[in-house]
Amino acid sequence: MQVALIYPYPKSSLIGCNPPVSLLYLAAAARDAGHEVTVLDVDEHSFSRDDIARWVGNHKPQIIGIPSFANNLTFTYRLVNKLSDGKPPWKILLGGPHPTAVPEEVMRKIPGCDMVLRGEADRSIVELLNCMEKGGELDEVKGLSFRRGDKITHNPDAPVLEELDALPLPARDMLGKAYGRGIYWRLGHRGTTDIIITSRGCPYNCNFCSKVCPVFRMRSLENVMEELKAIRSMGTRNVHFMDDLFVSDRERCIAISRMIRDEKLGMRFKVRGRVNTVDEELLAELKAAGTKAIVYGLESGSQKILDAMNKRTTVEMARKAILATKRSGIEVYLDCIIGYPGETEETIAETEKFILDVKPTAVALEVLYPLPTTKPKPTGH
Ligand code: SF4
Repeated sequence: MQVALIYPYPKSSLIGCNPPVSLLYLAAAARDAGHEVTVLDVDEHSFSRDDIARWVGNHKPQIIGIPSFANNLTFTYRLVNKLSDGKPPWKILLGGPHPTAVPEEVMRKIPGCDMVLRGEADRSIVELLNCMEKGGELDEVKGLSFRRGDKITHNPDAPVLEELDALPLPARDMLGKAYGRGIYWRLGHRGTTDIIITSRGCPYNCNFCSKVCPVFRMRSLENVMEELKAIRSMGTRNVHFMDDLFVSDRERCIAISRMIRDEKLGMRFKVRGRVNTVDEELLAELKAAGTKAIVYGLESGSQKILDAMNKRTTVEMARKAILATKRSGIEVYLDCIIGYPGETEETIAETEKFILDVKPTAVALEVLYPLPTTKPKPTGH
């Protein structure tokens, strides 16, 4: 099958522009299964919707795969409408967090969307492409929602991908010239910055957080190292660990840090941490491996709001972790959410005071965005 995988949303923002690694996982899996895959990252060309439609017209794929997120649904809707205008020869497949959470709603609101692959699609996209190539029955593809006449059919969920090591590494070679042109960057790093995902899911259950698959799974150290070396061989020294929670398994984190140090990769890292999972020994190991910064999901400086979020941390834990991180020579970046139900001017002032007290390198303040599958009301309210 001829497949076009498109990341159509500009990622450039104040904090960075990542290579579309989740899409590159699917590209690698489909290519390994013998399908002809093309990847378009709109950031490479600053394409408009019209440009994307022209690109698709030139490539003439049989199926177009597009990830979709709650915060850019309007763009997805308009793009799919454009690409499905006039009964084109291709099918349009959506995936990602939003269609996974509400596939029926997405397919009803976006009539040009022929199919949705729910959950992590690394395996199911191959099943789908093989099935379409052979003219098989779509009922057989696990995790697929599709149209049959006027009805939308939802096949059973695909099994959770347990063996992350069995997946091919993301097909970065399919990014064309984008990579070499240095369009991928991250606040706090100089030069091209890539991302890596060494585990999927997260063992915590914060009320505001939406995950495609919550089950926590880890890649082996060797498998992570293979990808880091591949990134290094492309001339990139900066890597952002994009795991939902990299610092969740202390021993594994130390083992990865030591392996990186032993391999003398000469790379610089930014990782995501949790204020209750770091200590001085771990921080020293991370620093020695080349960790430049840790991003903590502080969320709030108010204990009342942290408890309502089911964050399972305390303000004092956060203070201790942040100060220890700074003492270790690692920069601290904080992610905060403003406007969680129960937030008041006083709780915002507590967050403001906390940030001013601990003086991180940078803070990202996000206004709460309600997502499907998250809890609509805080615990106990
Ligand atoms: S916010 Fe972070 S710690 Fe909480 S559930 Fe989501 S990924 Fe896990």
